[in-house]
Amino acid sequence: MELVTDDWNAIGKGVKGTRKAPPGQRIFREINYQGRAFSKSCLMAGAKAEKFTAVRQSVRSPFSLNPSPFFSLSESHRPKHECGVFAVYGHKDAPLLNYYGLFALQHRGQESAGIAASNGEGETFRLHKGMGLVSQVFAQENLESLKGTRAIGHVRYSTTGSSTLLNSQPLVVDTARGQIAVAHNGNLVNAAALRAELEMRGSIFQTTVDSEIILHLLAQPDDTMGGPIGSFRKLEGAFSVVVMGEKEIIGVRDPSGLRPLSLGKLGDGWVLSSETCAFDLIGASFVRDIKPGEVVVINDQGVRSEFPFTEIREAFCIFEYVYFARPDSRLRGVTVSKARVNMGRELARLHPVEADVVIPVPDSGIYAALGFAEELGIPYDPAFVRNHYIGRTFIQPTQLIRDFNVRVKLNLIGDAVKGKRVVVVDDSVVRGTTAKARVVNLREAGAKEVHLRISCPPHKHACYYGIDFPDPQKLIANQYTHQEICDYLGADSIGYLDIDGMVRATGLKKNSFCLACFTGEYPITFDSAFDKLIMERRKGSAQLLPDQSAQPALFTPNA
Ligand code: SF4
Repeated sequence: MELVTDDWNAIGKGVKGTRKAPPGQRIFREINYQGRAFSKSCLMAGAKAEKFTAVRQSVRSPFSLNPSPFFSLSESHRPKHECGVFAVYGHKDAPLLNYYGLFALQHRGQESAGIAASNGEGETFRLHKGMGLVSQVFAQENLESLKGTRAIGHVRYSTTGSSTLLNSQPLVVDTARGQIAVAHNGNLVNAAALRAELEMRGSIFQTTVDSEIILHLLAQPDDTMGGPIGSFRKLEGAFSVVVMGEKEIIGVRDPSGLRPLSLGKLGDGWVLSSETCAFDLIGASFVRDIKPGEVVVINDQGVRSEFPFTEIREAFCIFEYVYFARPDSRLRGVTVSKARVNMGRELARLHPVEADVVIPVPDSGIYAALGFAEELGIPYDPAFVRNHYIGRTFIQPTQLIRDFNVRVKLNLIGDAVKGKRVVVVDDSVVRGTTAKARVVNLREAGAKEVHLRISCPPHKHACYYGIDFPDPQKLIANQYTHQEICDYLGADSIGYLDIDGMVRATGLKKNSFCLACFTGEYPITFDSAFDKLIMERRKGSAQLLPDQSAQPALFTPNA
């Protein structure tokens, strides 16, 4: 028999196999990636086996969208931001300013938010953090309880360690060096080894985030490593960190400068932020970016710099320009929106197409689409309308809800595309689920042709530096050819920007970027066992007594 399916795994691989589900069931729901869900449901059904060959499903509808092999029920279909950090020193409203700073950085993490505040030496740090958006975590009374002239804050998307309150930041401890609070953006690629080493020396960890390692290194009472600042040399990977001690606030950027961190000035006080858009919101002026490998110490004497790392090899994450950062931020002197417009222009020159309208996938596709339209002189129309008021949902995604979710964030103005040759510009295709849904939307609305243009090269490799696509098998471009992807998405054509065009769009040097998720050339070696839950997995190997046989008898029955 022929199995009519829209299942990518089945079609792309020309799957032949055994169909065991009961007759009458909708076939495209019965097969899932690598047959796992299929086998499970079939065993439960206990029906007879039947031979099949997978062919393409002929009728397309968003409600027949089969889960992509690159999209599990619990996963988002977009890359996730990593985290955002913010700090204020020397201002009477430091916690409140921090709160607004976190609002501006909300796009970098929506799982949890927190602020630690202090009035200085001898006063107990005050901390409030919780799960959810900044607006959900902080009520008026929470902010009023956070008194102090200095504060650090954090918004989190979990890239190492689960999304739990325990793992939310800032992390605050009391040590021989006084109280210390830490907020971290990035991933430490040597986290497991460092944690094991610290535990061997007696450290007790409370969380499963790599950021706690920074806290433990800072807290070490001996100065053999060069004190707290020298201890940063132990860290490998991506880290833009703000630290609050009792006398100072410290900002650190890893020697590759993978994640951004900038210094601003507000009155007599100082501000550190993951992105400059937060300075605009609180009225701070931009001073400069923290350099790769730089440690800035802000205290009552002002700001001083140290460079404790022996080797600096700049490798800034280029995906910050493509997708992560806000368009109104300036990264390394380049406004993100401008870089995106340039990417659109480069893309238009590389993959021109005759079309009637260019439409963006909001939000990060907007500027690239503008550049694309301007370059080719094609009308631009923001025909996808984003619903900005959704927030997080905790509803378990059934098939119906998953299909609904595809539409709930973006709705299409059908009149803008009916009967037209449409170019749709997006920032990336990671698993393919979103792009496919957009193409289906456009076809249903009567678009005559749909040409997909992507403002970065195909993602073929994992990111170990703080972005949530660690499994290459879930990256559509890693698994399938250009034509197979185009067929799966149902587009008339697909064109990606190339590496040189993407770099040219920033106006910066190619060798100053990390391009690893496109090229597979990693600027920093990493633990091959690394993934988001590496710390959780360690738990299974724990034992209180090293060798059971060596235990003394605690009591002897009948003795
Ligand atoms: S691998 Fe990609 S996403 Fe990760 S840091 Fe490098 S450029 Fe950025």
